[in-house]
Amino acid sequence: MRILVVEDERKVASFIKKGLEEQSYVVDTAIDGLEGERLALKNEYDAIVLDVLLPKQDGIATCQKIRLKRVDTPILMLTALGETDDKVRGLDSGADDYLTKPFHFEELLARVRALLRRKSQDRSTSLQAGTLVLDPVTRKVERDGRQIRLTSREFALLEYFLRNKGQILSRANLAQHVWNVSFDMDSNVIDVYVKLLRQKIDKDFDKQLLQTIVGAGYVLKDEDEND
Ligand code: CA
Repeated sequence: MRILVVEDERKVASFIKKGLEEQSYVVDTAIDGLEGERLALKNEYDAIVLDVLLPKQDGIATCQKIRLKRVDTPILMLTALGETDDKVRGLDSGADDYLTKPFHFEELLARVRALLRRKSQDRSTSLQAGTLVLDPVTRKVERDGRQIRLTSREFALLEYFLRNKGQILSRANLAQHVWNVSFDMDSNVIDVYVKLLRQKIDKDFDKQLLQTIVGAGYVLKDEDEND
């Protein structure tokens, strides 16, 4: 899951980025409205955290412009304390939810999760393929009831595969959602991570869930869809 954070206060931006990264989200940051708009239109994000008071272009205008371009990524607006107008204008401009500053990180996290769930229209918390189960809230992964330990990047990769079960995902697609903008597409990092993930989720089991589609990418399938 890849998230864009648009916030000009560097301390707040790095606090949010660090917290989200600890939860295995991939995070890009922008420090003004124009850069935020540019990144939101260029990359495919799963959610955007957007401050209202921003240099160059405020959060309201940024949100309106993103929506005008028909990008429907869920947006969580950060508003100043007591500014009821900001909340109303934020929601009117196309934001999905708002959070008043100052806030506790746990609340931001809960709201981001709620937006992501709404987006995937999957309100149940756990994601599943055959006997493989991933719980995005507790961060636990099991297969056949056996617990599997993943690094945060492996977890992010598996979560993305599970949210797109049955779909062939290209390396470019995985790079977009599981790595951030500084990712070098020429490296073989994705293949290395897929291999590591496969060793953990498939190696000790009869049915292989994660399959390579030569020339196209990878696909994660339910056990009963396998040959
Ligand atoms: Ca600000």
